[in-house]
Amino acid sequence: MTDGMNPSLLVFLYGLATALATGLGAIPFLWMRSVERRGAALANAVAAGLMLGACFGLVSEGSGYGRWQTVAGGLLGVLFILATQRILAGREPSVADVADEAGARKVLLMIVVMTVHSFAEGVAVGAAFGGGVALGGIITVAIAVHNIPEGLAISAVMRPRGASVASCALWSVVSSLPQPVMAVPAYLFVESFRPALPWALGFAAGAMFFMVFQELLPDAYEDAPRPQVGLVTSLTLVAMVLFQRSL
Ligand SMILES: [Zn+2]
Repeated sequence: MTDGMNPSLLVFLYGLATALATGLGAIPFLWMRSVERRGAALANAVAAGLMLGACFGLVSEGSGYGRWQTVAGGLLGVLFILATQRILAGREPSVADVADEAGARKVLLMIVVMTVHSFAEGVAVGAAFGGGVALGGIITVAIAVHNIPEGLAISAVMRPRGASVASCALWSVVSSLPQPVMAVPAYLFVESFRPALPWALGFAAGAMFFMVFQELLPDAYEDAPRPQVGLVTSLTLVAMVLFQRSL
C-alpha cells in the first residue's frame, strides 16, 4: 500500500466513492420524469464491459498468488451470488420489471434488494486492494460505473411516486453503503491472512462475472437492440483491458 494515508481509510474512501456514484443515477431525473429504457440498457452494457475487463485483472493478479485457489474462489463468488438471489427469492429488480408496478412496498423492496446485492461488491473492492492500489482502483472504477444504472433504476421507481431528486439520490447512495462497510474488513482480512488473497481475488472475479452474465447483459438485451449492446460491451471491454495494460 501507499505511504501516508492509513490504508484502511484509503480503502474506505474508495468504497465510499463507489457508493456516492450510485447517487449520480438520480441526475437524469432533474429533467425527466421517467427513465428512457434504451439509455439505461446501454449504461448497463458499458458497466458490463468495464466489469468484465476488471475481472480479467482480478484473475491474472489472483493466479500469480495461486491458480487453483483463484479458480476455487471464483466458484465461491458464483455460489455467493446464487445464495443471495435465493434469499431474495429471484426478486432482483431491473428497470423493466419495476417501472410499471406501484406501491411503497415495491420501493422498499427494491432498496433492500439493491443493498443486499452491494455486499459482494464491497468485498470485491476490499479484496482487490489486497492486490495493490492499481488493481483496487480499477475495481473501484468498474463498480462505481456499474452503480450508476442501479441508482437510475432506484430513482426510476421513486421519482414517479413523487420523491424529490435529492431523496432519490440519497436512497441510491444508501443502497450502496455496504460497499465501503464491507471493503475495509475484506481488505484487512486479505492483508493479515495472505493465503486468502487468491481466494478473495477469485471470489470477486467470480461474483462480478456472474452478475454480468446473469443480470446486466440479459437486462440490457431486453431494452436495447442486441447489436448495440454487443458493440458497446465489446468496445468497453477492449478499452478496459488496454487501459489495465498501460498501468
Ligand atoms: Zn451492483
